[in-house]
Amino acid sequence: MRSPAIVEIFHIFLIMLILDESKSSVLEEQTFQKIFEYIDSHQDQFVKTLKDWVAVESDSIQPELRKEIIRMIEKAAKHLEDLGATVKVAEISTQQQLDGQNIPLPPAILANLKKDPAKPTVCFYGHVDVMPAKKADGWETEPYNLTEISGNLYGRGASDNKGPVLAWINTVATFKELNIDIPVNIKFLLEGMEEAGSLGLEELIKENKAFFSDVDYIVISDNTWLSNNKPALTYGTRGNACFAVKVEGGEKDLHSGALGGIVHEPMADLIALLDSLVNSSGYILIPGIYDNVAPLTHEERKLYEPITFNLSEYKDNVGVKTFLYNNKDEILLHLWRFPSLSIHGIEGAFHESGIKTVIPSRVIGKFSIRQVPHMNLTAVESQVKQHLEDIFSRRKSPNKLTVSMQMGAMPWIANINDLQYKAAGKAIKRVFGKDPDMIRDGSTIPIARMLQDITKKSVMMFPIGAADDGEHSQKEKISRSNYINGTKVFAAFLLEISKLHGESLETSNLKTVT
Ligand code: MN
Ligand code: MN
Repeated sequence: MRSPAIVEIFHIFLIMLILDESKSSVLEEQTFQKIFEYIDSHQDQFVKTLKDWVAVESDSIQPELRKEIIRMIEKAAKHLEDLGATVKVAEISTQQQLDGQNIPLPPAILANLKKDPAKPTVCFYGHVDVMPAKKADGWETEPYNLTEISGNLYGRGASDNKGPVLAWINTVATFKELNIDIPVNIKFLLEGMEEAGSLGLEELIKENKAFFSDVDYIVISDNTWLSNNKPALTYGTRGNACFAVKVEGGEKDLHSGALGGIVHEPMADLIALLDSLVNSSGYILIPGIYDNVAPLTHEERKLYEPITFNLSEYKDNVGVKTFLYNNKDEILLHLWRFPSLSIHGIEGAFHESGIKTVIPSRVIGKFSIRQVPHMNLTAVESQVKQHLEDIFSRRKSPNKLTVSMQMGAMPWIANINDLQYKAAGKAIKRVFGKDPDMIRDGSTIPIARMLQDITKKSVMMFPIGAADDGEHSQKEKISRSNYINGTKVFAAFLLEISKLHGESLETSNLKTVT
């Protein structure tokens, strides 16, 4: 229901009085209101587009669905072209090897929405591929048929990441439809292989450095808030170093009745090695591993105080009754800014049900360390190797030990004093009426670090999904309100960043003059 005109006039009058500012801020308020009203009144259309996107099974894990990703990329490219963007569908040269077969990778999108050198340039990154989903996996709805139940839009990719990508596109469409000049230049980098590890993306970014050269701010909207209701901005992610520790005994598996008691069993060696890594309090026992962890400053500690974190809601979301820590701060600190070590599995072990009295001849333990700034991958690798070799040598086992680091991804940290964090904070306050939680993410999102390293630009993670969106699960959803308010908050962000960017230029010009 629209408010009567008299109320609206009074509202504007009140704003004028309170702000006691020039006509321009009233105009600005009107611009925000016009944009928000448009987004509200066109929400069904935005939901319909999301349904259309979710209907494409752009699963990047199963190679036979590669053509669907290509179809999805074409759909997104068409969408951006219709909005007036210059779109480059960039072929990714790398091919994926599967069973000796070369499978081509889908192209990525580099799009450009006008070019005014006087304005700052914001580049948005997102992905249009999804994790696999089948009704038979336990979905209550058809995963590729976006279904609305009690204000939630269920479907694969609804939150990860088609909804947020579309929220950005809806924002552009809103400005265009309202004939309001977008106050910044916008670029889009959209890929179709994120869930499979962003294959070929690093090369693509390096090959297209020129595309990023005039970018001022990079925004990624591919994670979620910490809570179900309070918005958040993410300024850091942990890295990941994955290890394989192999213990080899004789040439073949042995019978435990025939040989048990006279051989050095590889599995016993491996269990001892794995057991030496971390204690029951979650403390990593590898000597030196904490040496390079950045000290926790007072300012940083203070960021944790206002964070809304409902421990019981969180426990429900993850399905765990008891954690290693029982208060908010300790839990968040150990998730985000301290390293952790997890043991994942043992290759070569007998793992089926029933009994098999075997002594496996060769077993490989798998574990990983989520590292944080300023841990150094090379140092972590040598500390791990040194530690395992020390433990192994104490066992005086004749078996053969091999330790290898199979993958290493670096942590990422942003400066929360960057203008774009301030602008996003203002946009969030305007749309949601509260300040965002300033959060990190315990998992590894290599794209943030990759974009930061290659382009040297400020990167921000600006999520619009809620903590219970169930990304990758059989209940993936985005709520209608998060999707629509997410569209509004992106629009508000564009207005705020253009203002702050302009002000900062004025200040720096003044400084140069005086
Ligand atoms: Mn994602
Ligand atoms: Mn994902």
